[in-house]
Amino acid sequence: MIIDGKAIAERIKGKAKNCCSDCYRKPNAVAFILGENPSSEAYLRMIERTLKSVDFGYTLIRLPETISEEELLQKIVEKNLDTEVDGILVQMPLPEHISEERVIMTIAPEKDLDGFHPINAGRLFKGEKGTRPCTPLAVITIFKELDIDLEGKYIVVIGRSNIVGKPLAVMLMQNNATVTICHSKTVDLEEHTRKADIIIVAVGIPNFLTRDMVTEKSIVIDVGINEVDGKIVGDVDYDSMKDYVHMITPVPGGVGPVTNAVLLLNLIEHFRGVVR
Ligand code: NAD
Repeated sequence: MIIDGKAIAERIKGKAKNCCSDCYRKPNAVAFILGENPSSEAYLRMIERTLKSVDFGYTLIRLPETISEEELLQKIVEKNLDTEVDGILVQMPLPEHISEERVIMTIAPEKDLDGFHPINAGRLFKGEKGTRPCTPLAVITIFKELDIDLEGKYIVVIGRSNIVGKPLAVMLMQNNATVTICHSKTVDLEEHTRKADIIIVAVGIPNFLTRDMVTEKSIVIDVGINEVDGKIVGDVDYDSMKDYVHMITPVPGGVGPVTNAVLLLNLIEHFRGVVR
């Protein structure tokens, strides 16, 4: 079965639209972008489309690449204090003279839409309420939407980054799965993947997961986004296994659209004051 990420994203948007239809105001997000970067611009256009499709507020603040770190932090603090703003995004990468860490630390945890603030990371680690990073949240949401019970499942996550692999492994564990994280130094990767009920790949290498590493029973979730000859592809050798494995996400049209849509869930939680 091919997992239809676009359909799941549409369902999330529908729920998001309904849940704020009778509120005193709409949830509002603010994004900062510094200088010009085509892929950042494309990403933010997608975010804008998603927010506007459910009538949520969105303001893009464009700043010159030469802005000082102090000035940028001051502008973020202003939005932290603005009671009409529920969520803040600062588009990375930032120019070299600005510390990403300091920027992330300056966004108030209760407005941190990406869930990258160390307070939110700590809350995730402890299983407390907090903002979850969008990509891991999207993967968990896909399982929920498809009624895939994670309890007792053996799940292999390939990739240990702070934004995908690590937080995802913690979230899977909190859903009672047995989790193994594999990475660039893992020996005999296919030894793990062939035993797994679910394999999640977040490596950033096209065709990384091949058919000999999976079985007919595997559920394969491809987080990768790579550009090859002007086309977007994932980390999985999709064509060779799409008719073989039990379930698989395509790229594009799998995890990506759900990642965009779950940003709405984070924004709603901030709006409602669930995350403090
Ligand atoms: P990253 O570069 O920070 O991490 C890559 C991980 O892959 C590392 O932990 C590394 O140990 C592991 N790795 C590298 N080579 C390996 C190998 N030979 N064997 C096993 N593991 C290996 O990347 P990231 O930020 O986690 O992103 C991973 C991929 O996911 C990229 O393609 C990125 O574009 C994509 N991504 C997608 C979304 C989405 O919404 N779909 C969001 C974020 C990232």
